[in-house]
Amino acid sequence: MLRDHLEAMKAEFPTLSLRENVPWREVTSLKAGGDIPALAEPPDDIVLARLIRFCRKRRIPILLLGNGSNLIGSDRDSELLVIRLNRGNFIRICFADGRIIAGAGVRLKDFARACLERGFGGLAPLIGIPGRIGGMLRMNAGANGASISDHLYELCGFGPNGESWSLLKEEVAWEYRHASLPPDTVITAAIFKLPPASANEQQLIADELKKRSERQPKGFNAGCFFRNPGKESAGKLIDEAGCKGLTVGDAAVSDLHANFILNLGHATEKDISDLMILIRQRVAAYSGIYLRPEVCFASAEALENFYAAVPAPRVALTEDSPLYGVLKNIGCELVRPGEPADLIPTGVLPPETLTERACAAWLRDLVSHKK
Ligand SMILES: Cc1cc2nc3c(=O)[nH]c(=O)nc-3n(C[C@H](O)[C@H](O)[C@H](O)COP(=O)(O)OP(=O)(O)OC[C@H]3O[C@@H](n4cnc5c(N)ncnc54)[C@H](O)[C@@H]3O)c2cc1C
Repeated sequence: MLRDHLEAMKAEFPTLSLRENVPWREVTSLKAGGDIPALAEPPDDIVLARLIRFCRKRRIPILLLGNGSNLIGSDRDSELLVIRLNRGNFIRICFADGRIIAGAGVRLKDFARACLERGFGGLAPLIGIPGRIGGMLRMNAGANGASISDHLYELCGFGPNGESWSLLKEEVAWEYRHASLPPDTVITAAIFKLPPASANEQQLIADELKKRSERQPKGFNAGCFFRNPGKESAGKLIDEAGCKGLTVGDAAVSDLHANFILNLGHATEKDISDLMILIRQRVAAYSGIYLRPEVCFASAEALENFYAAVPAPRVALTEDSPLYGVLKNIGCELVRPGEPADLIPTGVLPPETLTERACAAWLRDLVSHKK
């Protein structure tokens, strides 16, 4: 049990801030979930590295918390030690030789403001994303065709054994809301090379904030809940499938933007995930596309339950197949040839246009004929 190790943790790390039974409500924008058993805030890299090793040795699972703007807290009494980097160097910004070093705990809005004061720009398209640098890099957060990795030069942190690492931007594959970093990687800082601010940078920022306030719902939320399947908009699909206004308990699909789920007050993790399941079901029935979450679950079990509740077709395929990318986008579970599958598309190809919608409809027909 995590709680059995907390006294030893306090004794070994006197400078660590350690709070027990912290409500997920207090540290996430969605404000769902019960209590975090323990929230640790290390003062610096040295304590962080030692804390990671301490947890590894005692098999205590850890979860990094940024600004909690893309995270669904857990209802269950978990064994997680949640670590937040919001002290000391983790929230510092340094300017040196045209490069900008930001700690993982720096909020984007503070980063953008400090950069603008020094004459750096290029962040306007991202303004309004309520993340911290570490969480944003982990998610490769983005908007308006730009992403946080665009002006990145290098990032660094610790691996699961507390070993330090650093990687140039080019050494990581930066994809749509995904960075190819191993799951247990902790990001501690990043170096950016930003372009000079344009003459109308302030105006671009103001325009972006205005656009967001008009298009995004107010209230407790975690941004977009589902990934866009390829070029399709998840919000549009959810709307077309008739999900606007759906509710489960205190969780509701926003009327303004269908890819936003709102916590109307006291939504639990279960309310949120049951509503997500309902949306996946309806969109799959309507289009054949199986939406995948963009938000992160603090509980791995909740994510497993979500996928198990509405399983996507298993398709056996090699990675060099022309269908691989599009089938992945529409949420199919891709398995290697020879593994159990609902479909082995040998010889048959969908209509010449490989759009996500066309491919999903084609696949749905094939699977239903097979049944
Ligand atoms: C109103 C609103 C609007 C939004 N708009 C957008 C948008 O336009 N585009 C967009 O991409 N997102 C958007 N989001 C979602 C969210 O802001 C982003 O995903 C953001 O990158 C999350 O950063 P965070 O610091 O809050 O991370 P968290 O939510 O705290 O964590 C997200 C993930 O990153 C991991 N993580 C956090 N810190 C670290 C670290 N230091 N090292 C390793 N892993 C870490 C966490 O474990 C978790 O898996 C929006 C959210 C809200 C509430």
